[in-house]
Amino acid sequence: MPAYAAIGGQWGDEGKGKIVDYMAEKASCVVRYAGGNNAGHTVINEQGHFSLHLVPSGIFWPHTRCVIGNGVVVDPDVLISESQALQEMGIDTSRLYVDERAHLIMPYHILLDRLEEESRGAGALGTTGRGVGPAYMDKTARSGIRAVDLLDLDSLKTRLKGILDWKNSLITKVYEAESVSFDDVYGKCVEWKETLGPYLTPAEHVVHESLARGEKVLLEGAQGTLLDLDHGTYPYVTSSSPSIGGACTGLGLSPKEIEGIVGVFKAYSTRVGSGPLVAEMDEDTASVLREKAWEYGTTTGRARRIGWFDAVAARYSARVNGFTSLVLTRLDVLDGYESLKICVGYELDGKVIDHFPSSAQTLDRCTPVYEELPGWDDPTASVTELEGLPPDALAYIKRLEELVGCEVHLISTGPERSETILIKPVL
Ligand code: IMP
Repeated sequence: MPAYAAIGGQWGDEGKGKIVDYMAEKASCVVRYAGGNNAGHTVINEQGHFSLHLVPSGIFWPHTRCVIGNGVVVDPDVLISESQALQEMGIDTSRLYVDERAHLIMPYHILLDRLEEESRGAGALGTTGRGVGPAYMDKTARSGIRAVDLLDLDSLKTRLKGILDWKNSLITKVYEAESVSFDDVYGKCVEWKETLGPYLTPAEHVVHESLARGEKVLLEGAQGTLLDLDHGTYPYVTSSSPSIGGACTGLGLSPKEIEGIVGVFKAYSTRVGSGPLVAEMDEDTASVLREKAWEYGTTTGRARRIGWFDAVAARYSARVNGFTSLVLTRLDVLDGYESLKICVGYELDGKVIDHFPSSAQTLDRCTPVYEELPGWDDPTASVTELEGLPPDALAYIKRLEELVGCEVHLISTGPERSETILIKPVL
């Protein structure tokens, strides 16, 4: 049986946590393939209200194995405390596996994330400050520490010494901050060998064995395509590949195995941190929606910037990923609007363009071209059948499908697992 991916189509925070929790009922294995604890996935089901940062959102189904793939950067302290918090709420985490090849977020990565952001001044990216960027930098520089290194502490000790000497030169000489103690960092590694050790495995076995047994594997995206290091609004991006390519490299999975690529989109847009958002609402309109929908970051608590649905960006995202179906989330947030705007083009230097520019500077010069559709009074909140949606909501969805070039197969009408309209099976 094949693999299916649920991928953020916008700037993250599309509500993938709820969707993966919903989809995981039919999966035997749920896998995170990119990002780190910069992600914040909210799941509300009969077992409670959860904010996950590293543990895959399939953990609530007793039949799923949950895997953190090699493409994820893992802060062991965060993973252990998240796993313990889940256990305290009665959730079994014995089916959680961490790939041995996953890189670790070290204490100096968290410090460097802050120091680098401070040094950027007005050009700060607005990172989540979790050390994610510096950990991926070390991965590509080949000076990262991987989970498997914890299993050979003697070798790790020697390597860590060299790495930390170099990091401390940077920290003290470039950033003029206080150096990090080798004993503290090495002490952490010794502790992590005990705490993280039981979760470690060559996780590609878990995934491939599931596929070989004919089971369904669900690939859980974190962040969104427009934050992708290659395809997003560089440099205002994260340091990993949240889009479909990242799922293959972040797991050791052939694209041949992936049958469904589900693009998860909010019915409007949000973005947290700096960078272009062409269809951004004026602050008065945005603040009303922000409060109504509680658009504040799950990880950092920061207020999210709000925009209308951007069909130019969404079409680009659909092309980069090859979405086979769409999931539309937070439709209920749009209940009660007299009319709704959809951004259908960008005006750039007096011309209307319909493609998504590669440069953040060019995007900043674009102004949105809107199409306005009637809103609806009857609520979509908690509706579970397509027939229960007001005609104007159906017309809005149909227009999004036309503009993005892909059918919507699932609609979320509220935060609870049950507040979902399934139009066609998504896996
Ligand atoms: P970093 O991933 O912490 O390095 O942050 C880089 C950019 O990605 C910042 O603008 C963050 O706000 C944004 N970002 C990272 N993770 C998420 C997420 O899970 N949701 C939304 N934005 C995110």
